[in-house]
Amino acid sequence: MNTSYDVIVVGSGPAGSCTAWRLAKAGVTVAVLEKAALPRYKTCGGGVVGRAMQALPVDVSHVVEQDCHAAQLSLFPAGLSFTTHRPTPIVSMTMRDQFDYALLSAAQAAGAVIHQQCAVENVLFQGDFLTVGTHAGSMKAKFVVAADGALSSVARNMGLADGRVLIPALEYEVTVPRDRLDRFHGTARFDFGVLPHGCAWTFPKTDHLSIGVLSTAQRGGDLKSSMARYLDQLGCGSVTQVERHGFVIPIRPRRGPFADERILLVGDAAGFADPVTGEGISFAIRSGLMAAQSLIDRHLEEESVKHAYTRSLAETILPELERGRWLARLLYNFPRVRSWAFARQGQRLCEAVTDVMAGKRSYRDLAFTPRTLLKLLTPQSFTRSGYGPTQPRDGHGLSS
Ligand SMILES: Cc1cc2nc3c(=O)[nH]c(=O)nc-3n(C[C@H](O)[C@H](O)[C@H](O)COP(=O)(O)OP(=O)(O)OC[C@H]3O[C@@H](n4cnc5c(N)ncnc54)[C@H](O)[C@@H]3O)c2cc1C
Repeated sequence: MNTSYDVIVVGSGPAGSCTAWRLAKAGVTVAVLEKAALPRYKTCGGGVVGRAMQALPVDVSHVVEQDCHAAQLSLFPAGLSFTTHRPTPIVSMTMRDQFDYALLSAAQAAGAVIHQQCAVENVLFQGDFLTVGTHAGSMKAKFVVAADGALSSVARNMGLADGRVLIPALEYEVTVPRDRLDRFHGTARFDFGVLPHGCAWTFPKTDHLSIGVLSTAQRGGDLKSSMARYLDQLGCGSVTQVERHGFVIPIRPRRGPFADERILLVGDAAGFADPVTGEGISFAIRSGLMAAQSLIDRHLEEESVKHAYTRSLAETILPELERGRWLARLLYNFPRVRSWAFARQGQRLCEAVTDVMAGKRSYRDLAFTPRTLLKLLTPQSFTRSGYGPTQPRDGHGLSS
């Protein structure tokens, strides 16, 4: 067994497999080390949004269980609900065991060496090489890409600065009778106001629903009770066939650096999930491809690779996430302003978020800045009775 590579990628989620695929295609010798054996269950809604599909370098249509051309955004308990439709899928529903396996198989077909059930225990600098320790022995590489998810042990072991915000989320796989399942067909549903500082979603799959809740409050409150209430609201409270899972989502990136010596951080390990929806597959794919491209273009030269990857992130993902955080603050931290915004701009809000998910616009394209948020908070924005709806008026936060 060859145990020396140009690049070792730790983790075979979308970030790791896309990194490996791109490197292998360019003829770089690359191995993926994965602690699990794929296919394996992964706690995730499995919703692959349009912008993620656009970023994907390989076809995964065979693992899509259902394409949702509609998205529904609702606010409880106000009873406000808005739906958008698009000719191309807004969210393609997958199960992550199959999705991740498809991407890893593509990386392998491109020439990446895959070591499964191979948990990385430590990474050491040894001259021009890094030595990667696993329970099965050690391997050497010139670079390591940490794609080992939100709990990244590589980043932790290397003492890399963190500063990410990890929020708790639950995902339940709920089997309901066919007639009830059909009611959710074709629509990705996002519900606000189900719990303070959080949201819930319902994603239809072939034979069941993937139902989730997240809380942007790091302690999360009582997520299980929120989920129980949400299941009741959906009419699924009495369902007994439920698989319960929970994990964390990084909705704020690391302070940086994202490239330290010869280690590059991608995906959740870097903290690249969308702060509005918790969607992390898009930027896992994009950061993985960017890391690989930096290694290829700069011929594995340490300083040059670090510079290229850092600059790519600074020009693309990081400003996008920063803009997203402003919208997230409105949705999660200011419930009364949110109610007002839904009542007055609900359809435009829903269209705008849909466009971002579908990859037609970015948060940066939306005129949503600290200035427009402040404008939203000015007294003339409200009716005399409080935060109720007023006549629609343009220019408050979301350009169309
Ligand atoms: C409840 C929930 C619902 C979500 N729903 C969605 C959704 O619908 N759509 C969406 O886009 N995003 C969703 N996300 C976010 C999404 O799951 C992540 O952002 C995404 O998986 C990040 O991909 P990644 O490749 O960076 O990491 P991961 O997918 O987490 O992959 C990391 C891999 O590294 C492996 N690994 C870890 N440590 C080691 C080690 N020491 N050695 C070797 N291997 C290791 C793991 O086994 C894993 O396979 C959700 C998250 C949660 C918690």
